[in-house]
Order: sequence, then C-alpha cells, then structure tokens
Amino acid sequence: MKNYLILPALILSVSIGYSQKNKNAYELASPNGQNKIKFELVKNAPKYAVSHGKTEVITPSDLGFLLKGNEDFSSNFEIKNVKNSTFDETWEQVWGEKKNIRNHYNQLVVELQQKSGNKRKLEIQFRAFDDGVAFRYVYPKQNVKDSIFIMDEKTTFNLKEDGKAWWIPANRENRDEYLFEEAPVSKLDTVLTPLTIESKSGLALSFHEANLIDFASMTLVNNVGTQLKSDLVPWSDGVKVRVKDTFTSSWRTIQIGEKPTDLITSYLILNLNEPNKLKNTDSYFKPYKYLGIWWGMHIGKYTFWESDKQGATTKHAEEYIDFTAKEGFHHLLIEGWNKGWTPGWYENRMHMFSFTKNADNFDLEKVVEYAKKKDIELIGYHETGSNLINYLQQVDEGFALYKKLGIHTVKIGHVGSKLNMKEMHFGQFGVNYFRYILEKAAQYDLAVLYHESIKDTGERRTFPNMVSREAARGQEYNAWSEGNPPNHLSIIPFTRLLSGPMDFTPGIFDVEVKQGYPGKRIQGTVGQQLAIYVTTYSPIQMLADLPENYEGKPALQFLKDVPTDWEDTKVLNGEIGQYITTVRKDRNSADWFLGSITNENPRDLEISLSFLDKNATYEAQIYADAAGTDQKHNPEAVAISKKTVKASDSLKLHLGGAGGTAIRFKKL
Ligand code: CA
Repeated sequence: MKNYLILPALILSVSIGYSQKNKNAYELASPNGQNKIKFELVKNAPKYAVSHGKTEVITPSDLGFLLKGNEDFSSNFEIKNVKNSTFDETWEQVWGEKKNIRNHYNQLVVELQQKSGNKRKLEIQFRAFDDGVAFRYVYPKQNVKDSIFIMDEKTTFNLKEDGKAWWIPANRENRDEYLFEEAPVSKLDTVLTPLTIESKSGLALSFHEANLIDFASMTLVNNVGTQLKSDLVPWSDGVKVRVKDTFTSSWRTIQIGEKPTDLITSYLILNLNEPNKLKNTDSYFKPYKYLGIWWGMHIGKYTFWESDKQGATTKHAEEYIDFTAKEGFHHLLIEGWNKGWTPGWYENRMHMFSFTKNADNFDLEKVVEYAKKKDIELIGYHETGSNLINYLQQVDEGFALYKKLGIHTVKIGHVGSKLNMKEMHFGQFGVNYFRYILEKAAQYDLAVLYHESIKDTGERRTFPNMVSREAARGQEYNAWSEGNPPNHLSIIPFTRLLSGPMDFTPGIFDVEVKQGYPGKRIQGTVGQQLAIYVTTYSPIQMLADLPENYEGKPALQFLKDVPTDWEDTKVLNGEIGQYITTVRKDRNSADWFLGSITNENPRDLEISLSFLDKNATYEAQIYADAAGTDQKHNPEAVAISKKTVKASDSLKLHLGGAGGTAIRFKKL
C-alpha cells in the first residue's frame, strides 16, 4: 500500500481569503490572493464575478436553473447561511504525469432559499485556487415532493473582454473527434469543453468541468457579445437533467494562467474530484506501452471482420506476440477477435457484437496461453457499436471471461453518433453509463480504456482504473481521412489534454503509410512521432505501427526507453497551435525525457537544462529530424546523437516542418 496522504489535510473555519462586503456580498480569494470570486445577491438573484490580480476576467454573471413547468430557479432568493473554510493537502497519484499534487484552496459556501412559491433551497459552493476557480450547485434534499427536471442551466460566463478561443463543435455526429479551430469568443456557436481562450489582456483561460456524476455534460454557447452560457446536453426528449430528489452538479471550472503553458501543469480538475476509492488497482494495473493488431485494419491491410485479410487470426496473434516479446514489451491489443464484426460495422445500426464468442480463425484461450509463455498480456477489446442494450446484457460475462484469462485492461469502443441510436454520448444517460462501466470493471480487476467516450472530468483520481481515453481526433484519422494537419498536435496539449490522458496511439514509423490507402499519410516526421510520447500524456502508450515498420529501426530504442509514469512534468515553452516543449521525469529512475514538436513551420529552440539535477551529469540521447528533414522531405530520417550535459547547459534544437525532437537524459 502506498502512502496516499503526505501532509495532513487541514480544514479550518477561519476567515482566510474571505471577506464580507455587505449582508448580500462576499469575496473569496485564492491562497496567494491572485484569483478572486465575488458573490452577490442582486435583486434576489445570485451573481458571481472573477478577477485575476488587477484584471477582471468574468463580470457579474448569472447562476441557477430553469425547472420543468417554466419554474424559474435563479431568482427570488435570500441568503440563509454562509460558510467558509480553507484546505491544504498534498496527495499522491497512483500513476500519473506528476506524483505528488498539492490541493490548496479557499472555499465559500452560500446557502440560499427562495422567498416564496416552492421555497426551494440551493447551495452554491465556490473554491478559489492559485491556478483558477470553480463552483458547483448542490440541491439538498428538501420538502418539495416532485422529481426534479432541469430544463436549462442559467449559468453564464460574461467574459470581460474578447479573446482567441480554441474550439470544437458540440452535439455533432462524430462526438468530439473534430479539429480545433480558432475564433473570437464573440463568434462561437455551441462548443465542447475544455474551451481554451487567450484573452486580449494576455491571460490563458480554460473552461471545463470536474467530477461529472449523474448530470449532463456542460457545453458552452455564445448568444450575445462575449458572454458564454452553459448549455447542458439534453436527453432525447429535451429534458437536460432528471433526478429524484437531490443533485450535485459537476464543478464549473475556470483555469487561469498568465501564459498558455501554465494551464498544462494545473491540476485543478483532479483536485476537484474525490480521492481514490479503489485501493487495489496497483495489483492489476501499472502503466505500460503496447502494440496491437489495429493499424493494419485502419490502413486497409487487414479487415476487422472474417475475410481472407482478417487481422485477428490466431496466426497473426502469435506473430505479433513473438515480435512484442522479442522487442521487450509486454502488452498487446487485438481488435476484431470476437463475433459480430461485419463490413460497415462503423455505421449507425444496432450492432449485435458478442463479447464471449471467438471470430472464426481466432482462438482466444489458445492465444492467451501462447502469450503467457512469452510474458505478454493481452488487452481486451469490446466494441459496443453504441448498442448498449446488447452490451449491458453481456458485460458481466465479457468481463468475467477476461478476469478468468488474466486480462487486466479492456478497451471499450462506442462507435456511433448516438447511444442506442437515441441518446447523445454527452448527455446524462451517457454520463451515467460511462461511470457505471468504470465501477463494474473495477469489480473484475479491469482497467478501462474508453474510445468514442464522453470527455474526461478527472475520474482517474477517484477510479484509477480509468486509465486513458480517446475523446479527440487521434492517429487513426491519418489512415483514412484527409488527416490531422500539422498544428493538431501543438493544439491538443492546451485544450483536449487538459481534461486527462489521451490514447492518441503514436509511434508510426512509416509516416508515408506505404501499405495504406493512396494519398493517406501522417503529416509529420518520425522525430515528431517519437516526441508525442512526452508531449501527449497517457499512462498507456501504443506503438501503433506494424511490426515490420519497427524491425531494425534504431529509433525504436527511444520507444523502449520512454516511460509512461512520471514523477514530474514541466512545460518549457509553447504557443497554442505553434509548438511545445515538455520535459518529464521518470517515476522509476533518475532520468528525464524531453519532447518538442512544431506545426508546419520549422523551428529552432534553445532549451535551458536547469530542470536537471544540479549535482549530476547526464548523457543526452537525442533523436532529432535529420538535416533537411520535414514532413515532405525524407520524413523518416532520424538523426541520433549523444552528448554529455549538465543542468547549467543549454541545448539548441532544430525541428523540421511538422517535426520533432525526443531526448532521454540518462543520469550518469
Ligand atoms: Ca475512434
């Protein structure tokens, strides 16, 4: 058992960071005093505002809901009670991008009650952190008898000034698998979170939510000026949230940085989730790298279904196991192993996959036996096709089969634009489904890798069997679509990745995809593919390419060396959509690793090595784009060199267009 608590938690009822302006106005400041939330009851309606230093961020904005029957639940309030507290603890992640995380905030809780009518009560909890602010609604059990139907959330975020927003659309066919675009806040339609904004005064803001349970996901809509409004994803009948007699919304979060890179090392989302409820995940999940019978299907070399090009055959599985073992890796994903795969399986239909029956030409028990002899563990795969009626009937049997076979991770896919062709993935139905499966998987000692899921809201703190998810455009788009443009990888660390780990599936060495569809390729260099293992965090990272493309390649050594569990993370430089350089320290050795990537523009960067241990010498093992290499010229060429360095040194990096550099700093 690890030590989860490093410092004792402090909960003090003293007026730190809190002041009362008058009987209807209160101000809450973060521990360092920089971030402030002002709460005020204005004409009986609750309002809040946010500032950072001398900069107003959010001007007075609305709070509350609209309930069924057009019942207004955002006004006619009086303050019944106000409580404040401060909290400071440092907790340890079971696995993660940083081992020890400080959770330090001041809290203000305002208890409201309506003055007439149903006299409903509403509690609003505010927390001010040094890296941002958050608030949520608690509807306590009370005397009103009906079930509660939330028809709309009235929360607004009145941005003081416009800014450049990095957005993807909400409520669309492909869920959150869209390319980020930039636009002024004042021009946005309905967008998903995390929504990251570079404000005119130079602040970096990111709007998201944390600890989403039994509620609808929040999207944001711009209706007027620079105002964003919460727009909850509805059920198919238009109701946004239906609950029995009490609810707690997710935290509405605003991360605040003085530059965009500050957002990446903010752990506010995790801090707003409940502590670990699973004490035994260490016994069945440790971060790893994996190969898979997967890319072959996406590039058209193999099929998911039974055919003369079937990917998941016992024969292919044994060949992949041999290669995985030979190169020193221990995990292998096999997709298409079960019954139910048909051509066009990705279309919206109520697919009938089996989660226990083998596809023809595949023998799961035999493959597991063979794998065990070579110290390889399989990663299970359940593609639901978004037919959850079928899936939930079989999920216990499917999980039990994996448990019996000693399989400890399951990838679960949800291809389809709606769950059961009816409900949106991001609605309350989907939120409850994805949480239910996490808890069920834990009962079978299974770690979960979600694809086509809802967004992450920090679940991994409470359920560290939630190890990674897709929830964005990943590498697969390079196999069969127009592809991800070169700026995509320099945008997602500042946007999508703020919500949690991503299974991007990096590591394509044949970036021109010679065995694939004509004209389809990765718009980047192999140097960049290596660097993604550091710039994109996930506790499980795929080596996505075909074994034959790794065979004999010296750059494979970096993928053998790079860990997926970190003691610490620092972002050395970066601009959204331009470039980023991230360094992380291995949790199990004294080594540091660096990943630096750029968009289509080549770039020269000078890196201070002051993050290294001052008293040590390191061998920098450098994997860089070879001279003259960029996405269009010799993109596979990686120049490998070694150099002895110290913390007082600096390094010059040259990145080709859509290129990258990856470095291991091995402590000598
Ligand atoms: Ca996908």
